[in-house]
Amino acid sequence: MRLVLVPTPIGNLEDVTLRALRALKEADAIAAEDTRRTRTLLDHYGIETPLVRLDQHTLDRAEAIFEKYPHLAYVTDAGTPGISDPGSELAAWVLARGGEVTALPGPTAFVPALVASGLPTARFAFEGFLPKKGRERRERLERIAREDRTVVLYESPHRLKKTLKELAEVLGEDRKVAVARELTKRHEEVFRGTLGEAAERFQNPRGEFVIVLAPAPPKPLDEEALLRRFRDEMGLSGRELFGALLAAGLPKNRAYALALK
Ligand code: SAM
Repeated sequence: MRLVLVPTPIGNLEDVTLRALRALKEADAIAAEDTRRTRTLLDHYGIETPLVRLDQHTLDRAEAIFEKYPHLAYVTDAGTPGISDPGSELAAWVLARGGEVTALPGPTAFVPALVASGLPTARFAFEGFLPKKGRERRERLERIAREDRTVVLYESPHRLKKTLKELAEVLGEDRKVAVARELTKRHEEVFRGTLGEAAERFQNPRGEFVIVLAPAPPKPLDEEALLRRFRDEMGLSGRELFGALLAAGLPKNRAYALALK
């Protein structure tokens, strides 16, 4: 059993690699989340490999499909299979049965959104879709509010307005955000501003969206609390107090001034 996860364009049909096209041609069959959408791509590139449907609701057909087509290419609606779609479940299913899984690099929505956002990219957290409601959603939003890495979210057009409003409430209206819309398509745009402005701007959203949130600003150090702990409770003074304040993150001149006081 051999599964090849093949990334497909997220809009622009030119965003497909030569290797992806070859993998689609060489497989015994292509399993696709949405056969109609995949058919457009295959027709565009003249690929005639048999096409079968395999989505979130039909994963129980995987066994029968592999029996008939032991070398299967898998493509999802768009982008990289396994990123917020059934690709990862299928990969785990194949690995659990001793099969071979190969993932090709290629298009995905969150990378261009993150990179075009202008926000820090050195450390980021991909959160995919938020839980839809209830306590789980609330807790996730609160965790995101404290996150010190850039956060990337996927959102559907009919939930975008509500999500931006809730993000503004929990993270604060001033938190910087980028909202990437319809990437690689005709109406591609990247809005960059604050959450307050984004919530105002996307009143009647259409298309596909990625939300990129700036990291939580670093908390200022509470000098009084540090002094209470090191000086009053631990009894440190002079050089020792200076060392402890420095280790806690205070700038050298500030630690020195407080230790002398
Ligand atoms: N596997 C895909 C990937 O690699 O990005 C993601 C699949 S997930 C079911 C679909 C979500 O991806 C959309 O709701 C949207 O948040 C995001 N997305 C996909 N295509 C996009 C595009 N062209 N522009 C902006 N966001 C897109």
